[in-house]
Amino acid sequence: MINIKLKSGLVVTLSLIMFSCSKSQEPVKTVVKDMSDKITKSDSEWKSELSAEEYYILREKGTERAFTGEYWNNHDEGIYYCAGCDQKLFTSSTKFESGSGWPSFYEPIDEENVATKKDTSFGMVREEVLCARCGGHLGHVFPDGPEPTGLRYCINSAALDFKENKD
Ligand SMILES: [Zn+2]
Repeated sequence: MINIKLKSGLVVTLSLIMFSCSKSQEPVKTVVKDMSDKITKSDSEWKSELSAEEYYILREKGTERAFTGEYWNNHDEGIYYCAGCDQKLFTSSTKFESGSGWPSFYEPIDEENVATKKDTSFGMVREEVLCARCGGHLGHVFPDGPEPTGLRYCINSAALDFKENKD
């Protein structure tokens, strides 16, 4: 009886070691998984964490007035993060002069980091752009952008946090 118990205990331990070894060989996959984890918070939690303008844009799907935001005319090199959850959204290398008065990009930093949804408010049919992680409203995407995508991601500055490349 004792022998059998020891044997089965050993088998379990060995397979656990093998399982953890094979798992640790995929560190990149694990990081990607963590980044796409959804964030859900109550309205009162968002209200206490965001500024009034950020809350209006991100959670109430508001729009800042053209040419008033922090980043429409920003030409520094760096990365634009979600103001709600710090997810990487856009990079300065895909930003272009749209003349709209809102920061405009021809593609997100990663397709998986943004979500789009049909928006029929104000009697228009538009594609709403959301942060895929926290569901925050970012702006809209239009099919009149430059090459290589032909898309124009028209984003509110207040939905973004810009961090300049230091090197
Ligand atoms: Zn977010």
